[in-house]
Amino acid sequence: MNAEIIAVGSELLLGQITNTNAQFLSQQLAEIGVNVYYHTVVGDNSSRVLDAIKEAEKRADLLIFTGGLGPTKDDLTKEAIAAHIGRPLVYNEEALKSIENYFVKTKRPMTPNNKKQALVMEGCLVLANDHGMAPGMMVKGKNHFYMLLPGPPREMQPMFVRYGKPALLDVLEKVEKIESRVLRFFGIGESALETEVEDLLLAQQNPTIAPLAGDGEVTLRITAKHESEETALQMIQEAEEEILRRVGEYFYGYNDTSIARELAERLKETSHTLAAAESLTGGLFQSEMTAIPGASIFFNGGIVCYSNEAKEKLVQVKPETLESYGAISEQCAIELAENVRSLLNADFGISFTGVAGPDKSKGHSPGTVWIGLASKHRETKVFKLQLVGSREGIRKRSVKYGCHYLLAELAGDK
Ligand code: ATP
Ligand code: MG
Repeated sequence: MNAEIIAVGSELLLGQITNTNAQFLSQQLAEIGVNVYYHTVVGDNSSRVLDAIKEAEKRADLLIFTGGLGPTKDDLTKEAIAAHIGRPLVYNEEALKSIENYFVKTKRPMTPNNKKQALVMEGCLVLANDHGMAPGMMVKGKNHFYMLLPGPPREMQPMFVRYGKPALLDVLEKVEKIESRVLRFFGIGESALETEVEDLLLAQQNPTIAPLAGDGEVTLRITAKHESEETALQMIQEAEEEILRRVGEYFYGYNDTSIARELAERLKETSHTLAAAESLTGGLFQSEMTAIPGASIFFNGGIVCYSNEAKEKLVQVKPETLESYGAISEQCAIELAENVRSLLNADFGISFTGVAGPDKSKGHSPGTVWIGLASKHRETKVFKLQLVGSREGIRKRSVKYGCHYLLAELAGDK
């Protein structure tokens, strides 16, 4: 099924608002394997809306409209579609009641034009509006499905998730089962990953493989369609195996997980404990760890040691180390990791020291990061990163790298 998202609203064309509805819906549709090939934006004008509908019908099976369901004269989406597909508009009792209730609740007088919002296309599936007045609807025309959603995101989003998406899935399920799985990677750039799997991306049809990058991570979403769910899952499995054969060393988890969560799981599974000493990340790593329920099982604690004094007094870094090499150094990262590990009697000690920017520090450019990794039974490792980006981005990515290195260390333990 191919969809086109048509946002109706002159304020979009005037640049007064951003078309976030299209972005949201595209993400949602990708999850259920519906291809979106076009986003259209059209003003509040009947004849141009009609043109947009006709154009979209040539290239999509499903037309999703947002906006123009309200009570005012410029809200004309519903009327335009109804006239085009020849469906009369009829009052929907439930919607009418809910609109009347809305006015009672908000103690405002109901003007006659508000009744217009309860008009729906005959024979359509009404999508209730739990956060506003105008109901949405889905209707099947001769060759196309039309879904109408309100403009305000706070009404549109819950309506789509609660009622629109299930209705689409119902239609899709009759034809084919759609399964999808997200593979998450860290430590490899988007273009490097794409190069590794380029032939798969080019050849793809079913299953489809969609890359997405953000926050220093890359994901690949594999989506397969088949009448049989089992076959769809098998298709995903095969694609996954081929992908992991090539870039498996950077893979850390499926779907909505995070690298911190995966690290926590692995620490729990292997009954290892962890302690942290943080300079440039200022507690961000520890915050990530303690955000995980049951963190006390694997996370002993840690220290935020921002100044040299704190590094000396709280983590017992030798004054000579700081004098000779400075805080942003391999030697300092090693001592921080080793000392915090032994101070807190943990299996692993991790440390972060570096320059988050935006300015240079002690001759080191922003993004220079040292991560120390001490373990009870093995030699201490230390990693140097040269990151780019904002202060916030550098700090966040440092934390992810810390998780990444620890995961690799634990994988070696298996
Ligand atoms: P209402 O009942 O509020 O009039 P409506 O369904 O008629 O809703 P519009 O009048 O087209 O929708 O838009 C109402 C508001 O919703 C806009 O002022 C804007 O804030 C928001 N909105 C509309 N379309 C979009 C869009 N594509 N992306 C993000 N926000 C939007
Ligand atoms: Mg409106």
